[in-house]
Amino acid sequence: MLMAAATATARALGAAGSRIYREDIDRGGFAVAAEYGNVDDVEALREKIAGLKAGEVIDVMLGNWSALVATTQYRGIVNGALAMWKLKKDEVWDNDHRLMLTDVANQLGIANEQIANHERIVKLSRTDGMTGLLNRRAFYEEELPRRIARLERSGQTASMFYVDMDNFKRVNDVHGHQAGDDAILFLRDLLINFSRPGDLVARLGGDEFALWLDGIDEETSIKRAAQLIATSKQMVSMSGDEDHPLGISIGVAFFDPKTGETLDDLLARADAAMYSVKKTSKGGFELAPPPGTPLEMPD
Ligand code: GH3
Ligand code: MG
Repeated sequence: MLMAAATATARALGAAGSRIYREDIDRGGFAVAAEYGNVDDVEALREKIAGLKAGEVIDVMLGNWSALVATTQYRGIVNGALAMWKLKKDEVWDNDHRLMLTDVANQLGIANEQIANHERIVKLSRTDGMTGLLNRRAFYEEELPRRIARLERSGQTASMFYVDMDNFKRVNDVHGHQAGDDAILFLRDLLINFSRPGDLVARLGGDEFALWLDGIDEETSIKRAAQLIATSKQMVSMSGDEDHPLGISIGVAFFDPKTGETLDDLLARADAAMYSVKKTSKGGFELAPPPGTPLEMPD
């Protein structure tokens, strides 16, 4: 729809090119939402938009171009811009052009707001409200199937860490729910700092988290799990009591696309390895046996 607006307006005004910008909520500033025609040498427009007030229309000279820029807004707040340009030598921007640009920009202000709303809703539906991490649904149903399909093409391997806090209930019982929440946020930060670009961190619910380590081999998976356990010992100071130290247990399932293992089977292996740690010693990790080995399920 934005593309159609950029094209139709540029043609109606006899412009050589046009761009629609919209506020970039994640990165700040303005991003190109749609463009048409010749867009050479117009990058400097972006900075000009940042200084505009709602409803402003300005002329900008850019190399060989003479550009006209109008803000788009919603309820008086700038949420983007519409820019058109012609060669300087052809310049015939008159008042009718300015009025038409403003009219279209006003409509685009509403469209930009609707797109931003949609993006906010999508983001909310994918994240856990308390930690801002990916939620269980987005992790299992959206991210992992995509990652696994990519690994099947590239032949690379990966690792799934299924993480559950040890003795977390004691923190709530002894220090209160707020202290429990603080422990969850502490673990969130620890997992984020531990992860590398391309990895995924998710909160599956309660005190359960998951880490997806992309492109890692089996030996490194084991080293990384040991490192994470060592780092998690910092959590001891938040324990409910000495006999029930706060920490984490990890079930590690190594994924090799060559085996043809399904996502469900991979998760079941990680889950079973985690329960096996819980049953024996807590505060450690266990590497799940390869796919196809009968699973030992919790009692
Ligand atoms: P284990 O060592 O066997 O894992 O036991 P645990 O004490 O860690 O308890 P378990 O994993 O069985 O249960 C997790 C508890 O976490 C249950 C629930 O009351 C509590 N919980 C779940 N979500 C939240 C939350 O958002 N904030 C707080 N403070 N507590 C939560
Ligand atoms: Mg627990």
